[in-house]
Amino acid sequence: MQHVKVVKFGGSSLADADQFQKVANIVLSDPERRYVVASAPGKRFPEDEKVTDLFYACYKAIGNEEAFEQIFKKITDRYDGIIEGLGLDLSLKAEYEAIRYAIKSKAGRDYAASRGEYLNSIILAKYLGYDFINAADVIFFDESGKYDAVTTEETFSQCLKYHERAVIPGFYGSMPNDTIKTFSRGGSDVTGAIVAGVVRAEIYENWTDVSGFLVADPRIVKDPPAIQVISYRELRELSYMGAGVLHEDSIFPVRKAHIPINIRNTNRPNDPGTFIVSDKSKYPDAEKTVVTGIAGKKGFSIINIEKDSMNNEVGFGRRVLTVLEENNISFEHLPSGIDTMSVVFPTAALDNCKNDLLEEMKKEVEPDFIEMHHGYALIAVVGSGMVKAKGTAAKVFEAIHKMGVNVKMIDQGSDEMNIIIGVEDSDFESTICGLFEAFFAKK
Ligand code: ASP
Repeated sequence: MQHVKVVKFGGSSLADADQFQKVANIVLSDPERRYVVASAPGKRFPEDEKVTDLFYACYKAIGNEEAFEQIFKKITDRYDGIIEGLGLDLSLKAEYEAIRYAIKSKAGRDYAASRGEYLNSIILAKYLGYDFINAADVIFFDESGKYDAVTTEETFSQCLKYHERAVIPGFYGSMPNDTIKTFSRGGSDVTGAIVAGVVRAEIYENWTDVSGFLVADPRIVKDPPAIQVISYRELRELSYMGAGVLHEDSIFPVRKAHIPINIRNTNRPNDPGTFIVSDKSKYPDAEKTVVTGIAGKKGFSIINIEKDSMNNEVGFGRRVLTVLEENNISFEHLPSGIDTMSVVFPTAALDNCKNDLLEEMKKEVEPDFIEMHHGYALIAVVGSGMVKAKGTAAKVFEAIHKMGVNVKMIDQGSDEMNIIIGVEDSDFESTICGLFEAFFAKK
């Protein structure tokens, strides 16, 4: 069987003509890279504007002719600059006219936003000499706006028979009434995963501006190395805790089909990047790693509850959880002792809270003592190798002790894949540094 690679390029990889050239070198250097998913042009420098944001602004400016035209010109200048920089014999004038007209006649906010990837993909297809497939013809949502995998799979696989090599715009598809709908922001990742699933790709390469998932946040520790191989489950733990490179929904289509994702850096194409796989056992080196990564988030609150003989009181936990449920609070952790129980949840959840949470708890469970504290951070030490390795917890707490940090909460997932530590917000960075030093610093 012929191997196929699906390659997705993010906005920074397609921000200007120079980046397009790097992309073409990457795609054309491997004949298996047959299907390319493109984002809209991203930022060329930190203060720059993403074309998707410009399209949203354009949509907002409908009715204000001058503002609309000013923004629309910024957009067309970006594309014309790319076309000129690449020396392409291509004019998008007719497209611009059609888009201007459609946005003004209220084709919708999602339609406007989707034009970023649409136009960029036309240019990229022309530059690569690949076919262009409009995502609106092959990616579908159902009446309720949910991605429709069955219709997409059927239509898309038929369509691909006629296209040996093609560029497909990311981020959008069409609704049953033919209007355009986008995924949430960053959704070109999702399109890439869908295409990889449909063509049963050997690999889904996701090209961006970092050399993979880093073992820790580079804003906190200096030069963290990239993770070489990570399982989908580990990735979920780390991403949930704030280590984001990939759109969350991009995991499912490829995970189901056992297609590995390889995160790569367009600006450093020789770096191997990170492989995200369902089964790490095929990667013996990765199997030996005990801790795969460290991530964390600030902004949690904790309610501590004490009551004599709590352990004998049937239904105590349920009553606590009912109060949370009634107040729309989804909890993160529930550490408990014999006569104590704590609930950890994001402080932001209190914004949705209908009533005074502590008063309701008091009424519901009649505790001897109850208090609420804010300003906690949670840190996850993640690694599927921890199940087998002895002494990891000791190493974690020794590292934290060395940093002089007071641990406020400890939890471990039932799969023994993570150790979660709660500390005060002000100790967050030093705890991450201590853990990084213990597990990843070159000795
Ligand atoms: N262009 C869209 C965004 O900026 C989608 C993407 O780049 O993945 O969110």
